[in-house]
Amino acid sequence: MLGRIHSIDTFSTLDGPGIRTVIFMQGCFLRCKYCHNPDTWSRESDHSRDYTSEALMHIITRGKPYFDATGGGITFSGGEPLLQHQFLKEIFILCREIGISTAFDSSLYVSTNIIDNLLSCTDLVLADIKQMDRAKSQELVGSGNELNLSNIELINQRRVPIWIRYVVVPGWTDDRKDVEAMARFIAPLTCIERVDLLPYHALGRHKWSMLGIKYDLKDLHPPSREQMMELKLLVEKHSSKQVVIHE
Ligand code: SF4
Repeated sequence: MLGRIHSIDTFSTLDGPGIRTVIFMQGCFLRCKYCHNPDTWSRESDHSRDYTSEALMHIITRGKPYFDATGGGITFSGGEPLLQHQFLKEIFILCREIGISTAFDSSLYVSTNIIDNLLSCTDLVLADIKQMDRAKSQELVGSGNELNLSNIELINQRRVPIWIRYVVVPGWTDDRKDVEAMARFIAPLTCIERVDLLPYHALGRHKWSMLGIKYDLKDLHPPSREQMMELKLLVEKHSSKQVVIHE
C-alpha cells in the first residue's frame, strides 16, 4: 500500500511520550484559521511523495533503540492522518508485531467507523478539541464539532489512552466559558490522561502567503504566559486532569 507523506521527523519529543518518529501525512479537509501547515491541505502537492509501507517501515525501525530507551514510538500527524486510515492501519499492525508503540494525532472530524477500525492497533490518541461551541467551531475551522466530540467519547469507551490538544487562539478559543466547557466535557472521561494547551503562534504564516491564501489572523498576537497559566488552572479546576502548557 502507498501513503502520501508530507514529511517525516525522526526525533520528536512533542508528539506523545518519549522520542518519536512523526509522520506528517498529506491532505486535510479542515481549514483552521491558525493552521501552520496549510501546505498539507491538498491531497497532492509537489512537496509530498508516496511511500510504500516497506519503505516507511525501513525508516521507522531505525528509531527502535530510541523508542525502547525512552518509551517512545511513532505518531501519525498531518494534515489529517485519518484520511489515509488504511495505510495507518497497515503500518500500525507492522509496528505492533515488532513492539513499536503507535499513536495518531487527529482532529477526529471523520466517520466513527474509521476511528473504531483503527483503535485495536492504537496505543495513544492525540485528540484535538478545536472549539466547544458549534457555531464558533464552524467559523474557526470550517466545520461543526459534533464528530470531534462524539469520537472522543468513543475512544474513551474503547479504553484507549487520550491526550487532548487545545490551541489557545486569542479572541477565538480563549473565552473562559469555552475553556470551562471543554474541561467539564473531559472531566468524566477516564481515559484522558492529560491536556496539552498550545499557545497560538504565527510561525506558519509565511506559508499562507507563499500559497496565495488570505491569512485572517494577521493582526493576532500569541497569548501571554499569564493567560496560559490562568487557563491551565481553569482546566485543572473543572476537569482534575494533568494540564501541560507547550512553549
Ligand atoms: S486540522 Fe490541522 S492540518 Fe488541518 S487545517 Fe486544522 S490545523 Fe491545519
